[in-house]
Amino acid sequence: MNPTRKRIGIFGGSFNPVHRGHTGLALGVCRAGFVDEVWLMVSPLNPWKQHAGPELAPTADRLAMARLAAQEGEGRLQVSDFETRMPVPSYSVDTLLALREAYPDADFRLIMGEDNWERFAQWRSHEVIRASFPIIVYGRHDGGRLEMHSPDGQTERADVPVQFFDVSGTQLREALRTDAGSALLREQLNPDVLRYIQAHGLYGVGQ
Ligand code: ATP
Repeated sequence: MNPTRKRIGIFGGSFNPVHRGHTGLALGVCRAGFVDEVWLMVSPLNPWKQHAGPELAPTADRLAMARLAAQEGEGRLQVSDFETRMPVPSYSVDTLLALREAYPDADFRLIMGEDNWERFAQWRSHEVIRASFPIIVYGRHDGGRLEMHSPDGQTERADVPVQFFDVSGTQLREALRTDAGSALLREQLNPDVLRYIQAHGLYGVGQ
C-alpha cells in the first residue's frame, strides 16, 4: 500500500436529514484508524427506497444540511455530491468505480452497517466491490463491532467498539412534524441543521 494515498471512507445514504448517528459513526471510523476521512455520499434516490415520496427533501437541501453537520467533523468529514451527478438509480458499485477513476490517487473504502453487510450478497455486482474495495462494517447497537474486510480476505477488528447512536431519519422527521421542540431533535441534530430545516420549512416542520 502506498502510504501517501489518502484513505477515504464512503458512507452513503439519503441523509434525510443528516443526524448525529451518521456523523458520530463516521468520526468513529476515522478515530479507529481505518480511514483518514469520510465522505458523506448523498444519494439522489436510494435503490432500496425507490418510492421515497414527498418525505424526501430536495437533494440540494440534503447536501446543504450535510455540509452544515460536517462542520462538527473535526476536519475529517466531507460531503460529496458525486452520486447526485450520476444516472439514477445509482448503485454503490457504479459510484465506487467512478470515484476510483475520478480520484486515482485516493484509496476508497466502503462503510456499511452490519444489517447491510448481512444482505450484501444481494447487492448489484457485490463480488466486484468485494474484490476491489475494503469494506468497513459497524455494529448497529452501542458497543458494537467495527471491522474491515479487505479484498485479500483479511479481516481487521478495531480495538475499541464504535459508539452507535440509536436514531433514524424517520424518527427525526416524525418529531419535526409533531414536536419541533423535542429533546430528541436537540440531541441528534446539529443546531445549524435544525435551523436550516425550520428556515426552509422542511419535513412539515411548524405546519
Ligand atoms: P431513514 O429513517 O430515513 O431511512 P436513516 O438515517 O436510517 O434514515 P440514511 O439517511 O439513508 O438512513 O442513512 C445513511 C447511512 O447511515 C446508511 O448507510 C444507514 O444505514 C446509516 N445509518 C442510519 N442511521 C444510523 C445510525 N443511527 N448510526 C449509524 N449509521 C446509521
